[in-house]
Amino acid sequence: MREGWRTFFAITEPSGGSDPAGAIQTRAERRGDKWVLNGRKVFISNAHNSKWGIVWARTSREKGRAGISCFILEPGTPGFTAKNIRTIRTASIPNDVVFEDCELPGDALIGTEGQGLDLAFDLLVKNRFPYSACNLGVAVAAHRMAIAHAKQRSTFGVPLSQRQAIQWMLADAEVELRACRWLIWEGAWKADRGEDARVEASIAKLYSSEVLGRVVDAAVQIHGGYGVSKEFPLERWYREARVRRIGEGPSEVHRMVIARALFR
Ligand SMILES: Cc1cc2nc3c(=O)[nH]c(=O)nc-3n(C[C@H](O)[C@H](O)[C@H](O)COP(=O)(O)OP(=O)(O)OC[C@H]3O[C@@H](n4cnc5c(N)ncnc54)[C@H](O)[C@@H]3O)c2cc1C
Repeated sequence: MREGWRTFFAITEPSGGSDPAGAIQTRAERRGDKWVLNGRKVFISNAHNSKWGIVWARTSREKGRAGISCFILEPGTPGFTAKNIRTIRTASIPNDVVFEDCELPGDALIGTEGQGLDLAFDLLVKNRFPYSACNLGVAVAAHRMAIAHAKQRSTFGVPLSQRQAIQWMLADAEVELRACRWLIWEGAWKADRGEDARVEASIAKLYSSEVLGRVVDAAVQIHGGYGVSKEFPLERWYREARVRRIGEGPSEVHRMVIARALFR
């Protein structure tokens, strides 16, 4: 990865991504000393141009959640195909991935059989803090651009920065950005100390992706036509921000995780 290699992470299937324990139908069958994969995944970012990836598949139909395992796979493997899906995101392109009698060596299994979802959630929870920090970083950049633009752009003879309507948009964004930073720090500290940070990870992911959407939207508005022009990064951030309320678990699923903890 340090050398710029990309990797992919294939959980989501046409049957759904919010609830992988129920939705995963891709099968991995033990045949002699090999594993044979059959099934389909959707929206798999970078599956077409990665050095390797991780795939979740069912190794037992009867065991439910404990019947899911994960495997490491190299894209050149026969029986593996990845076809780009066009979305509003133009970086880290997602793919429709098909496994047709795709043979993997016996040691492609990661961890033990049936441990797949525990490994996935462990990784996803830890990844939610850097993911949230990326949301925050882009939101801060958009906010700075909006402040700079408001200072130098005048309408009706007065700079935008002197209009209360604009000041309040920027003030609200400032409050949300500061709150967001603390939420991410709090969760990351907990995870660093080895404590259970599942709820904090959901709080950070939910809040940072929603703040990103609101802050970028305000920055686009303050920039007027330039906000949606390809000359500036704002329109791209606006599109990516929309994806971030769905990818890595939709907002509703994170609200569900937080609410479950409240009623435990
Ligand atoms: C650009 C992009 C890149 C992606 N990259 C990857 C990747 O690399 N690897 C990967 O595995 N997946 C990837 N995904 C898939 C992503 O993780 C899923 O789209 C996401 O988990 C939601 O799954 P779904 O699309 O099947 O929606 P569904 O699971 O069908 O859910 C649809 C909607 O229902 C609502 N919903 C779901 N559950 C609940 C609930 N309990 N309560 C209330 N409302 C609910 C939410 O609004 C949700 O958006 C990517 C998606 C996109 C758009």
